[in-house]
Amino acid sequence: MSIFHDLRLPAILLCAGLLTSCSQASTAAVSRDLFAMDTYMQLQAYGPEKALDEAEARIQELEQDFSVTRPDSSISRINAAAGVPVTVEEDTVKLLHAALAMGKESGGALDITLYPLLAEWGFTKEEKHVPPPQTIAALLDKVDYAAVSVTDDTVQLPAGMMLDLGAAAKGYTGDAVMEIFRENGIASAVISLGGNVQTLGRKPDGTLWKVGITDPFSPSETCCTIEVENKAVITSGTYERYFEEDGQRWWHILDPADGYPADNGLISVTVIGDSGTECDLLSTALFVEGTEKAAEHWREREDFEMICVTEDGKLLVTEGIADSFTNQSAMPMEVLTRE
Ligand code: ADP
Ligand code: MG
Repeated sequence: MSIFHDLRLPAILLCAGLLTSCSQASTAAVSRDLFAMDTYMQLQAYGPEKALDEAEARIQELEQDFSVTRPDSSISRINAAAGVPVTVEEDTVKLLHAALAMGKESGGALDITLYPLLAEWGFTKEEKHVPPPQTIAALLDKVDYAAVSVTDDTVQLPAGMMLDLGAAAKGYTGDAVMEIFRENGIASAVISLGGNVQTLGRKPDGTLWKVGITDPFSPSETCCTIEVENKAVITSGTYERYFEEDGQRWWHILDPADGYPADNGLISVTVIGDSGTECDLLSTALFVEGTEKAAEHWREREDFEMICVTEDGKLLVTEGIADSFTNQSAMPMEVLTRE
């Protein structure tokens, strides 16, 4: 949608520039741009064109499952079922299990039942507004991820509640694309799904992929870069989708604790790890948790790294990626350690 400020292309453009400089590639690069899941996507791989066709078809299939705005999607069927169990395909079941587990792990910071409130704020439409406090309070009563029940092939939601997988659909989709690339024998690829970057292997010349992280204070620029292989690099930030009212900025990631845009000290969180699904879920959860709790959450888990930008203009970088990190901004950088 045009009024959304979707300015996350620099991350992949940086990769694209590096890709074209790899002249000694044994396999030619193939690439594709598409628009799906309400965002721009770019796929680049060293392998057969057919892999891109399969990836594009898979993206469309998953959009059909996860879209909250398409009336015939799996999620919409669940939301319209008014308390009755709905049979769904495996992808929806898998992503729901992961999202509900993250709901628990984050103490409810990530809650996929926020949808009625997100809709009232207008984040699914062109018309956005700050709802009256009593409307927010009433809709918060309908938010509780623990009330969702999922079996091997059904999902049941209490009447009046609604699901939205916007916090993790792109990460899951990125994992699915990588799986298709691997099945096609591809050893080197990079994709950006609306700024969510996922890499397969290294660049064909054997060097690491360099991924730029958007500067949340100046979203047309990057504030830092990291070098990775086989990793997802996924960001949640205030600059992605927002509107302004009463001289204030209101963004699309809500804090389930009060129903207002999460404002706990962070303006951007980037998560680096093996699984796109987990990194996407974590980026949203950590953003809501805020500076202190996000650091604690990172210490509790051994399997991801993160880059946080605080609203007072600091970069917090976890020790596991400090060596592959380059600060391109004037912001001071602090390394978070396990102890
Ligand atoms: P983006 O999709 O912009 O890259 P995120 O992965 O952080 O960013 O997902 C944000 C989306 O997640 C929102 O557009 C909304 O659909 C949903 N959402 C917002 N707040 C929450 C929350 N606290 N828990 C779960 N989902 C949320
Ligand atoms: Mg996310």
